[in-house]
Amino acid sequence: MPAPSQTDTGFPTHPAWMEIDLDALAANYAELQRRAGPSIKIIASLKANAYGHGAVATAKTLSGLGTFALSTGSFRDAVAIRDAGITTPIVMFGGNLPDGIADYLDYDLIPTVYNMATAQAVSDTAKTPVPVYIKVDAGMGRLGIALPEADAFIRRVAALPRVIIEGVYTHLSFNDAVGQEWSKRGIDRFNALIAGLRDSGLDIPVTQAVASSNLMVGHMDGSNAICPGHLLYGLPSVAPDLADIAPFQPVLRSVRARLIHIGEFPDDPELKTGGYHVKRQGPRTGVVPLGLYDGYRKPQDGAPAAVLLQGRRLPVLGVSLEHLTFDLLDLDNVAIGDDVVVLGADGDDCITLAELANWQGCRAIDELMNFDGRLPHRYYGST
Ligand SMILES: *Cc1c(COP(=O)(O)O)cnc(C)c1O
Repeated sequence: MPAPSQTDTGFPTHPAWMEIDLDALAANYAELQRRAGPSIKIIASLKANAYGHGAVATAKTLSGLGTFALSTGSFRDAVAIRDAGITTPIVMFGGNLPDGIADYLDYDLIPTVYNMATAQAVSDTAKTPVPVYIKVDAGMGRLGIALPEADAFIRRVAALPRVIIEGVYTHLSFNDAVGQEWSKRGIDRFNALIAGLRDSGLDIPVTQAVASSNLMVGHMDGSNAICPGHLLYGLPSVAPDLADIAPFQPVLRSVRARLIHIGEFPDDPELKTGGYHVKRQGPRTGVVPLGLYDGYRKPQDGAPAAVLLQGRRLPVLGVSLEHLTFDLLDLDNVAIGDDVVVLGADGDDCITLAELANWQGCRAIDELMNFDGRLPHRYYGST
C-alpha cells in the first residue's frame, strides 16, 4: 500500500479526510473464514455505512472475495450498493415498516421478518415467492420474535403463499465473561429451536447466531453461517482482557488533515491571558480544518489529546466548530499543506482509535459514527 504523499493535493478546499485500507478488510475477511472454517458462509455486516468505512467500497471488496451475502439495516446504504452495480444478496436487518417491503423487493433486498404484519406484507406484495430471513430474539431484548414463540411463528410464516424462509438467525453480542456465558446459553436455545424445526420436517437452509464477540473468543456453534461486523473492520467487540484483537487489522488507517495556518506569536505576557495562548507552550500554533462539524469532539478535561506531525505528539489546544488548533511546541520546519495525523501512525508513534475515543470519553464506534458522513473517505488497496 503506497504511503500518502506530501505532494498529494487532494481536497484543497477542505483538506480533512479518512483513509480506509481495503487490503486490511480483505485480510480480516480471510482470517474470519479461517476461524469459522471453509464451509461456513459469511454474511458480512455492513450496517451504518459499513461501521463508518463506506458501504459501497466495502461491499465491492467483500463481493469480490466471494462473501455469501451482505447485511445492513440501512435502506439508503443498500440502495447505494445496488446503484453501484453490486448484485450480491443483501439481507436487511430490519428498520422498516411493513409498508417498506415494496421498496425492499424493488431493490432485490431480502427482508428480515420478526412479526406477522411484516411477514404478511411480504406475501401480499411479492408477485412470486421471495426469500426472507426470520430473526429470533434469544436474549438480547431488541429485534426478533421472542424465542418461546419462535417455533409457532416460523411455522405460520412458512405457510404463507409467497414467502420462502431462507434463513433464521439471532444475535447475542457481549463484552465480558458473564456476557460470554449468557451468549452461549442463548445460542444453545437457538440451536434447540432449529433442531426442533428440522425434526418436524422444516429445514432452514441458512442458520446463523455467531457475530464478532463469539468469533473473538473462539465460540463457534452448529450453524452454517456467521455474521461478523466489528472484526471485518478490525474493531474489537469484547473487552481486551477477554480476547486480543490481533491478528485483525484496523481498516480505518488514519484520519488526516492538512495544515492551513501557522500562527507565530511574539513572547508577550499580555497574549498569555486569553484564547489558546493560555495553554500554548511553544511560539507557534497549527490549525487544521477539522472541528466539531467534521467529527472531532472536545477532549475531556485533563486528557492528553494530541495530533502527530513529523512523528511528534503535539498537544491539542482546542477544537472549535470548524477548526482544530494545536501547539507546534519547538517545531519550526513546518509549512502550510503539511499532513497532520489526527488518528493513525506517523513515524514511530501512532494515535489509535481507542486512544482518541478515550480522550473524548466515548467508544471507538462512536468516533467512527462522528467522522463518517462528515469527512470524505480515501480508499487504499483492492476494491
Ligand atoms: C450488528 C449485527 C451483527 C454483527 O455484529 P458484530 O458484533 O459487529 O459482529 C450480526 N447480526 C446482527 C443481527 C446485527 O445486528
